[in-house]
Amino acid sequence: MEFEPVIGLEIHVELSTRSKMFCGCRVAFGGEPNTRCCPVCMAHPGALPVANEKAIEYLARIGLALNCSIPGRSIFHRKNYFYPDLPKGYQISQYDQPFAVDGYLDIMAGNEQTTVGIERVHMEEDTAKNIHAGAGGRIAGALYSLIDFNRSGTPLVEIVTRPDIHSPQAARLFLNKLKNLLKYLDVSDCNMEEGSLRCDANVSVRPAGSGELGVKTELKNMNSFKHLEKGLAKEIERQVELLEGGGKVVQQTVHFDFATGEVTPMRSKEFAHDYRYFPEPDLVPVAAGSGFVEKIRAGMPELPGARASRYIQEFGLPAYNAEVLTSSRELSDYFEEALHHFDDARALSNWLMGELLGYLNATGGELADCLVKPRELGGLLEMISSGKISNAVGKDVFAEMCKTGKSAGEIVKSRGLAQISDEAELAAIAGRVIAANPAQVEQFRAGKGKVLGFFVGQVMKETGGRANPQVVNRVLREKLTG
Ligand code: ADP
Ligand code: MG
Ligand code: ZN
Repeated sequence: MEFEPVIGLEIHVELSTRSKMFCGCRVAFGGEPNTRCCPVCMAHPGALPVANEKAIEYLARIGLALNCSIPGRSIFHRKNYFYPDLPKGYQISQYDQPFAVDGYLDIMAGNEQTTVGIERVHMEEDTAKNIHAGAGGRIAGALYSLIDFNRSGTPLVEIVTRPDIHSPQAARLFLNKLKNLLKYLDVSDCNMEEGSLRCDANVSVRPAGSGELGVKTELKNMNSFKHLEKGLAKEIERQVELLEGGGKVVQQTVHFDFATGEVTPMRSKEFAHDYRYFPEPDLVPVAAGSGFVEKIRAGMPELPGARASRYIQEFGLPAYNAEVLTSSRELSDYFEEALHHFDDARALSNWLMGELLGYLNATGGELADCLVKPRELGGLLEMISSGKISNAVGKDVFAEMCKTGKSAGEIVKSRGLAQISDEAELAAIAGRVIAANPAQVEQFRAGKGKVLGFFVGQVMKETGGRANPQVVNRVLREKLTG
């Protein structure tokens, strides 16, 4: 029997607001433990939360960007559970009246456009952080644990998809697209190492073509999209084997160990009723009236789709280039910055997609760490387009810029790479090359025009690739036909 995987994702995004969700403490990663906390985020008796307006604005941006509807009223709930990093004994979250509902995000999975439904987008708060001393930071074998409240109460948005994803690859594509969108929205740094973006994946399998959902398991807190993709593939394999052997999938949380590639069941899954949700009595409802929503909509940053259209219209870029350039906020920002220093958008986009992305792919590097800044790349392309250096030399210079962070001008000067366009100088070299190759001259004169390429190649060799090809062609032609 053929099985079809069914995947739904729950994504947590820490917002990059200045202050926390329900108090005035600063939001930042790390720092001296317990220096950014107060009675509210440490849950002292009698402390009262006040909702952060900016966080609600960011939340609205996310909801709108995911094509959700925003009901005029949503409320906070208490989600009760005990854990040392949760001092109140409950997390303030949203339950049956979330902020935004019923949206979607389209992805290209394979060559097919797939619409992934967004069930809900809601507001909650992050927990504090347990720090396990000794034994490599893991709870198993730790001597004792400490709690850092700096993170406690950081605004956290949860995005829940519908079970519309049907392969581990598509899950990864979805997450990449979502992350990029969040970056365009300027609401989070989406730093996965620092935990600003975290994902739980729910997965089940069912007979291909069936309209029913199978029993799901959950992979929690995957800290990279690559791990998530791999973990899902493993878990799908495990479920299919189980079912084929006549067994049953148990609804539970499973742990994926990237190092061993093993999936192991962890604990039975909790259900909504375990949390004893009830409305948070200390907070008023959130009234997102049409005035508020329209204000947010009007102030939305430019999103990737709109940017791509602008590149096509304003700069005449091919649709493909526009899509690649806007597929990451960093790349798109880089492109626009470089345009200030070199205004041929088409040539710039080709160079970015060919050379720069090629280099990053080959080295596995990130654009943010690339030593060639937009201004320097603009400088290099300017030297090429004005004929100071040839295109081929430009590629070498670029490689060196990537390694050393030096400017194109410096490298060209110190290595004597400037293009030779001087007619007399090139004519002299052409003359020598012609004199040394009488047989080829004969062929050319007998009508074999292609031999010209041979002579051009010889001149290039003599000049270490620095000769201006147009001038070389001209002087060779003159000499050979004259
Ligand atoms: P729970 O109450 O167990 O958390 P939810 O209904 O809230 O379950 O769904 C959580 C996530 O799991 C959502 O992203 C949803 O799309 C996904 N999901 C629900 N049922 C299934 C299923 N049978 N297989 C795969 N994913 C599922
Ligand atoms: Mg859930
Ligand atoms: Zn605080």
